[in-house]
Amino acid sequence: MSGSDAGVVIVGAGLGGIRVAESLRANDYEGPITLIGAESHPPYDRPPLSKSVLLGKDDRVDLKPAEFFDESSIRLRVGERVSAISPGDHTVTVEKPDDPSSSETVGYDTLILATGLSPRTLPGTDGVSGIHVLRSIDDALALRGEIDDASTAVVVGAGFIGCEVAASLNQRGISVTLVEPAPTPLAAALGTEVGALVTRLHQANGVDVRTGIGVEEILTDPSPGSAADTDPARATKVRGVRLADGSELAADIVVVGIGSIPVIDYLDGSGIELAPRESGGGIACDENGATSVPDVYALGDVANWRLESGATRRVEHWTHTVEQATVVAHRIAKTDAMIPATPAYFWSDQYNLKIQVLGRPESSDLLHLVDDDGTKFLAYYSRDGILTGVVGAGKVGAVMKTRPKLLTPTPIADVLG
Ligand SMILES: Cc1cc2nc3c(=O)[nH]c(=O)nc-3n(C[C@H](O)[C@H](O)[C@H](O)COP(=O)(O)OP(=O)(O)OC[C@H]3O[C@@H](n4cnc5c(N)ncnc54)[C@H](O)[C@@H]3O)c2cc1C
Repeated sequence: MSGSDAGVVIVGAGLGGIRVAESLRANDYEGPITLIGAESHPPYDRPPLSKSVLLGKDDRVDLKPAEFFDESSIRLRVGERVSAISPGDHTVTVEKPDDPSSSETVGYDTLILATGLSPRTLPGTDGVSGIHVLRSIDDALALRGEIDDASTAVVVGAGFIGCEVAASLNQRGISVTLVEPAPTPLAAALGTEVGALVTRLHQANGVDVRTGIGVEEILTDPSPGSAADTDPARATKVRGVRLADGSELAADIVVVGIGSIPVIDYLDGSGIELAPRESGGGIACDENGATSVPDVYALGDVANWRLESGATRRVEHWTHTVEQATVVAHRIAKTDAMIPATPAYFWSDQYNLKIQVLGRPESSDLLHLVDDDGTKFLAYYSRDGILTGVVGAGKVGAVMKTRPKLLTPTPIADVLG
């Protein structure tokens, strides 16, 4: 048995938090585990938020049944936020978000930080009705609640979440414009050649894709029945956006998908080292998730792990979070089990197409488009003659077949045959 009276405290009851708790138990860690989450919900899954939840197919996307927590002796404290960390005396301060007087000090032997991201917003849009971001189930349900009364939407930002939201709103019968300053959707992640195929996908489904242009101004109207004197922000309702070229787009709904920032505010004064912004920011960790402070680990979207190559990277994908949770749990439970190496992987569902990416392609890599039927496609990426990644749309089998080739340096010539 490992662990003492205080045991493991996990900050953030999202995917990374629940998976590390589960993995600790699976690795025979018998000490107390406390999982603290700022949202009022038990741990839930985020990928469905932009897909099945917006489409109205799912209401609950819990990661575990309610009985799991008692059965696994995991103390779940939701609706409570960690506001400060004191590594010197191994404690965290926990409070209810709306009630600082509820402040309580909780001890830990080992602390795990899995606090995820907070979406960027457009300046001056706080509280304007009809403007949305999408990170939480509350965000998704608020957006979904406006779909039936909307006929037009502008999605600002054509990253993965923006593209998925555009697809879902389109599938709900809304006339959607997708606005992106880069030359194509997903350009930063997958390069402009694949990005152009994604543009084609959206256009084929009737989405108006405006690339190479940004939003200049959000256009608002007084909100019907609003009480400007009690809540001035809510006194306005979005009616559209003005783009940098002066053109105006009508919008009952505007969804802002312009990236997210690591949630690290509670680390002020803790001495825990942060990663430089140029390398993605977030909490600096070694290759097993240990932070600069003893007995404190970080994982998931908020964590910036060092790779074996010495490079550092913060990744915002589901599978990556799950893998990091396994590594951290093994390290804390002191198992000597080998964790099999796997290539990096993520996916995105847009319309009825699954886009999958294996490996670590960079937008500057050489692209080899090997299959394209006008909708589905398959492409490899290479750098200096070596395969770096594969992207497929509607090509699950072909993508997955590449897995072993991404585990060792494989000449692109061997893949292309
Ligand atoms: C809409 C959407 C769609 C996605 N789709 C895909 C997809 O198709 N494929 C894919 O690979 N990935 C996808 N992702 C990414 C994936 O969901 C994330 O990588 C994953 O959720 C990261 O888990 P996490 O535990 O690091 O963070 P989160 O799941 O965000 O959990 C962090 C939790 O910590 C809580 N928290 C923050 N601060 C505190 C505090 N001080 N005290 C207590 N609790 C705190 C937060 O409220 C949150 O509940 C998607 C993400 C979103 C938002």
